[in-house]
Amino acid sequence: MPGFDLHAHSTVSDGTLAPAAVVALAAQAGLEGLALTDHDHVGGLAEAQEAGRRLGVEVIAGIELSAEDAQAGELHLLGYFVDPRDGALLARIASLRDMRARRGAAMVERLRAAGVAITLDEVAREVAPGAALGRPHVARVLVARGHARDVQDAFDRWLADGRPGYVPKERLTPRDAIALVHAAGGAAVLAHAVTVAESEREGLVRRLAAVGLDGIEVAHSKHGPKERATFAAWAKELGLVATGGSDFHGANKPDVALGSVRVERETIDALRSRARRHGRS
Ligand code: AMP
Ligand code: ZN
Ligand code: FE
Ligand code: FE
Repeated sequence: MPGFDLHAHSTVSDGTLAPAAVVALAAQAGLEGLALTDHDHVGGLAEAQEAGRRLGVEVIAGIELSAEDAQAGELHLLGYFVDPRDGALLARIASLRDMRARRGAAMVERLRAAGVAITLDEVAREVAPGAALGRPHVARVLVARGHARDVQDAFDRWLADGRPGYVPKERLTPRDAIALVHAAGGAAVLAHAVTVAESEREGLVRRLAAVGLDGIEVAHSKHGPKERATFAAWAKELGLVATGGSDFHGANKPDVALGSVRVERETIDALRSRARRHGRS
C-alpha cells in the first residue's frame, strides 16, 4: 500500500527515532513519502531528506506548532512545504524551544512538590541535543522511575492538563502561527481536531479558515469514522485540503505505526499548490 504519511515526529522533538530512522521505517512500510512534522523544529529535515534520497522516500518539509484560541483553547497547526532556512520561522521556533526548556524545569519542580523525586538532569538525558523538550520526555522519566506504567499512564496521572505536573506552554495565536507558516512559504493545516472540545470544533475551523487556514487533518490515528466524515464535510464546504497522518512518535506512542494513516499524491499536490499561493518566490 503506497501513499504518504503526513504527520511524524523524530528525536528532534518528542519522537523516539532519529530523523533518518523514521525515513528508513517509512521505506520498510512501503510509503512513497512522509512529512516530518516535529514540534517547533525543522532541524531534522536535512538528515531526513538525505535519507529519503538514499532510500527513495519523498520527504516533505513540515513542522507542528501549538497555538491558543481564546474560545477553543489549545490547538496544533501543521506547516507543510515550509522553507527550513526562513529566518523569521527559525527565530520564532528557537524562542519557543527556549520556553520549552524553561517549562521542563518548571514541570520537574511541580512534580517534586507533589512528591515525585525526579530531576531535571534525568529529563535532559531523554532529550537529544538541541531538541524541543516536550511532556513525553518527562513521561519517559516518570516511567523509568516507576511513577507510571507507560507514557500514556504518565500523562493520565501527572502530565495532562489539570494533573499535578502540568505546566501550560506559552503559545502563538492561531493567526500568528498561520502567518508564520505562510511567510515561510508553507501551507497551514489544523492537526487532530478531536483534541479540541467537540462543541468548539466547528467554530474554530471557521475562524481559522477566515485567517488563511489551508487544510484540515481529516484522517488521524485518533479520528474515528464519524469524525473523519464531519471534518471532510467541513473541508469541502470551506475549500480546505483534507489531509491525513498517523502522528507517529515511535515508542512514545507504541500503538501508532508509521504509515497507519495514508493519503494519496493528489493531497500532496493540493497542499503544494496552496503553499505556492503564499510563496514568496
Ligand atoms: P507538549 O508539546 O510538551 O505539551 O507535548 C505534547 C505532546 O504530548 C503531544 O504531541 C502528544 O504526543 C503528547 N500528549 C499530549 N497530551 C497527551 C495525553 N493526554 N496523552 C498522551 N500523550 C499526550
Ligand atoms: Zn508530539
Ligand atoms: Fe499535535
Ligand atoms: Fe504531532
